[in-house]
Amino acid sequence: MCNAIATKLGLKPENVILGNGSNEVIEFLGHAFLNPGDDVITCQCAFIVYKLLATAFGVRTIETPSPDYQQNLDDTLAAITPKTRIIFIPNPNNPTGTLVSHAAIAPFMSKVPSSITVVFDEAYFEFLDDPPDTRPFVRDGGNVVVLRTFSKIHGLAGLRIGYAVAPAEMIQVLHKTRQPFNVNSIAHAGALAALDDEAHLRKTKRVVDEG
Ligand SMILES: *Cc1c(COP(=O)(O)O)cnc(C)c1O
Repeated sequence: MCNAIATKLGLKPENVILGNGSNEVIEFLGHAFLNPGDDVITCQCAFIVYKLLATAFGVRTIETPSPDYQQNLDDTLAAITPKTRIIFIPNPNNPTGTLVSHAAIAPFMSKVPSSITVVFDEAYFEFLDDPPDTRPFVRDGGNVVVLRTFSKIHGLAGLRIGYAVAPAEMIQVLHKTRQPFNVNSIAHAGALAALDDEAHLRKTKRVVDEG
């Protein structure tokens, strides 16, 4: 499965980790990086699981203002404290549907201290016509984790399978936090079949676009 995902994305298998849904990978991040008293940063109206995770780990969630529902990366940079460990960027966000542009990402990444892990949550990546490409940051070995899932465009939410791509050193750290048998074989089979089912992807995108 990791091989197939890596081939599809032009990355290496050691850049991929599977989760019982990408929500589980969000939990790996908590185990790997969060201690009580730390901060995580996201925007107002962000996907709620980041805050649930932070609360479970005794960590404060700093939510930058998003009056127009848009995450502003300058505000994100300004919100960094010495205790910040993770920045979550849901791209596009659920529930607001807003997108941080490709052009805004590189300047932002160049300013984030290397002690902070930047998480791009790309659960809806396949629905975008012109998606931002975060793989260069993975290839460059930055402190970045990109989340993807089979729950959305592939329609396999009930099977519970998602993944992260990240630099190999980061993936090794995340592996230490997971249970050995976290993804079941039925989910593997479904995800493998879904990965190359371009016709289903196109059809789902068309139906959603029309909606
Ligand atoms: C649905 C969703 C996820 C994760 O879903 P899984 O089923 O756990 O893979 C992650 N992030 C966002 C923004 C989502 O909407």
